[in-house]
Amino acid sequence: MYKDKWLANEKVFRDPVHNYIQITHQLILDLIDTKEFQRLRRIKQLGGSSYTFHGGEHTRFSHSLGVYENARHICDIFSRKYPIEKEGENGWDDSERLVTLAAALLHDIGHGAYSHTFEQIFHTNHEEFTAEIILSEKTEINAVLQKMGIDFPQKVASVIQKTYPNPQVVQMISSQIDADRMDYLLRDAYFTGTQYGFFDLTRITRVIRPYKDGIAFLSQGMHAVEDYIVSRYQMYMQIYFHPTSRAMDVLLVHLLKRAKFLYNAGGRADLFLATSPRLIPFLKGDYNLYDYLKLDDGVLNTYFSEWSEDVDEILSDLAKRYRNRKPLSSIIVKDEKEHLLPTMRRFVEEFGYNADYYTITSSSMNLPYDFYRPNDTHSLTQIEIMRKDGTLVELSTLSPLVRAITGESVGDRRFFFPKEMLQKTDGQLDLLEDVTLKFQKHVHNGELV
Ligand code: ZN
Repeated sequence: MYKDKWLANEKVFRDPVHNYIQITHQLILDLIDTKEFQRLRRIKQLGGSSYTFHGGEHTRFSHSLGVYENARHICDIFSRKYPIEKEGENGWDDSERLVTLAAALLHDIGHGAYSHTFEQIFHTNHEEFTAEIILSEKTEINAVLQKMGIDFPQKVASVIQKTYPNPQVVQMISSQIDADRMDYLLRDAYFTGTQYGFFDLTRITRVIRPYKDGIAFLSQGMHAVEDYIVSRYQMYMQIYFHPTSRAMDVLLVHLLKRAKFLYNAGGRADLFLATSPRLIPFLKGDYNLYDYLKLDDGVLNTYFSEWSEDVDEILSDLAKRYRNRKPLSSIIVKDEKEHLLPTMRRFVEEFGYNADYYTITSSSMNLPYDFYRPNDTHSLTQIEIMRKDGTLVELSTLSPLVRAITGESVGDRRFFFPKEMLQKTDGQLDLLEDVTLKFQKHVHNGELV
């Protein structure tokens, strides 16, 4: 039986974050070998961040293996220390292991090239593609999962969609402290070369335990959990929300927006037929999973290279700026200064740029941690600390540090515009210099004033 194909000798993948990724079942090896999973090697984990932190070139392939390894390690700990046979309803049922590991490995399988930007322009949805890749009978992933049983693909999909009945399994893959986040924080910190995202994973795995309604952490490890929350907060503030990375993402949004416009209303369908045929279903808004799986970072980058030589000045200029790392500049916009934005856009237009393609206002916000709020439909599973007597207490009630950032969205709202607007003007005043001077009067200490 395929279900029983545990490997006599485990296979290992060398990994800079976890040292070894240990594969102990044929199912996991077969999933890794599918073409849909191998495709993740060609999709970078971080979008614009690698233009700020050049080491951040790692892929969704290595992250997915890392999430699998975290889940495997936790399953090992649960089955050794807290088996259901000993702990009853507060214990771990190890027959859940393979569905958990498959879900961990496949949780990001629906991500595509430049996912978040691509979704913004073409309205694709990586979560829907994840479910489809797992459930469609035409994928190699589905064929492998089917070998475990006819209902196994549906079980794996339901873990990722958080509808699986066992909350321990769901929370291990998706909660405020899960196998996914514990990998990407460490991996992104390692590859970007920053020191913010590190926390003591070994300590956390020593104090993690199952209980009836999910996953908890023993009270003696509370500070390791606290450190993880603070690390996550710092990664968002320092890496994920970095203004230069966001400025590069903004260029990409505008580049794809221009392509979509030229294809549909600009009479340039021939350009895309000739240079970028795999993008056409998305430009048209009529695509399916198989169109999606044909795209990756390499394919899109080749298209951008072609576009950089096109006669359309906006398309070629944005493509060149993206390829050659010429990000837009930005300033913070506070609510009370919002009324100035149309004026700022007008200055950019007067300078000679199309404001629709060279300016944007965009927010980056994140909730570092929150406790469960019953009336909020988007409420999060809170982090539970287990006291010596077995009672549970929510993390922020124990940690003043976590309490300080609980329920508080952090981030900022920025107005992006061409760097040329900030250039120094010297010598004779002409019309353009006059416009930049007016623009610059509203910029002070990186803020719109
Ligand atoms: Zn992930």
